[in-house]
Amino acid sequence: MSFDLEEKRLKEEIKKRKPKIVFLQLPEGLKPEAPRLAAVVEEAGALPIVSSDPCYGACDIAVSEAKILGADLIIHYGHTPMTMNTDVPTVYVEVRAKISIKEAVANALPYLESWSKIGLVTTIQHVHQLDEAKNLLEASGKTVLVGDAGRVKYSGQVLGCDFSNAQSVSESVEAFLFVGGGRFHAMGVALATEKPTIIADPYEKIAYPIQDQVRRVIMQRWGNISEAKEAKSFGILISLKSGQIRLREAINIKKKLEHGGLTATLLALREVTPSALMQFPGIDAFVNTACPRLSLDDAPIFRKPLLSLNETLVMLGEMKWEDLLRRGWFGNAT
Ligand code: SF4
Repeated sequence: MSFDLEEKRLKEEIKKRKPKIVFLQLPEGLKPEAPRLAAVVEEAGALPIVSSDPCYGACDIAVSEAKILGADLIIHYGHTPMTMNTDVPTVYVEVRAKISIKEAVANALPYLESWSKIGLVTTIQHVHQLDEAKNLLEASGKTVLVGDAGRVKYSGQVLGCDFSNAQSVSESVEAFLFVGGGRFHAMGVALATEKPTIIADPYEKIAYPIQDQVRRVIMQRWGNISEAKEAKSFGILISLKSGQIRLREAINIKKKLEHGGLTATLLALREVTPSALMQFPGIDAFVNTACPRLSLDDAPIFRKPLLSLNETLVMLGEMKWEDLLRRGWFGNAT
């Protein structure tokens, strides 16, 4: 197993808090571990129930579901707490990666050759390895900056909807190195900072630049905005996930669309999927007030334009396309 699931702490928390029913939430990649973790909970004296719904972030603490089931403790794996009250006591297990980052960072060095000042960013799974990455970069003559804007728990940590740590050092660096798997977070760093961004992927032990994909996404976003300009009827998506609810913003954008002579319907849902949106054939385009991942990663799977709040302002002529980067591309920070 390449991740630390802190089974010992899990057992101690159960013994200390003495819950009757524990609701376990795991991100998608860790769901296969659920039966094993449930057994640990049971051994410690509580009844485990595993949430089988998707869970992509700490914005999605399953409080309502835990209440329905009468659970008196939530164990949430894979994310750091967001500043959000949960009525049901919640224990966060951050899930640190146990694999080496050395080879991936070494492989990133040739891509960083032409820059001397590097910003270093990562996800929660690798924050404990940032010092090591910093040392490796410094050993090859780089000046390394790790940002701390005070909005997320750890220096250098980025979320898919919060790149403040990258932005806080952006003006002082020439490029960013993202340590971690997948492209989504690195793409967000590149979009939020407009700086070349290299991924050092410790799982694949490879490194690669993300700029070509960023360019493709920008083109695709522009295409979405242009297509939405032809739309007459809009659906405004309001997430029902506890940390993603943006009702006020949804109502504001509804008023703006209506002011422009368009129709707009508020649509609340837990999971934004193509099949959920296909139930509304009379709607020409959607505004996403939920997780920005939908517009960045998943947009190609939707048949109709799916705009962020700020992209909708561009479509309405209330924001300049160039300002999207400065003001936050997706306008959906939780
Ligand atoms: S809103 Fe999306 S990007 Fe932000 S924490 Fe939740 S899942 Fe991650």
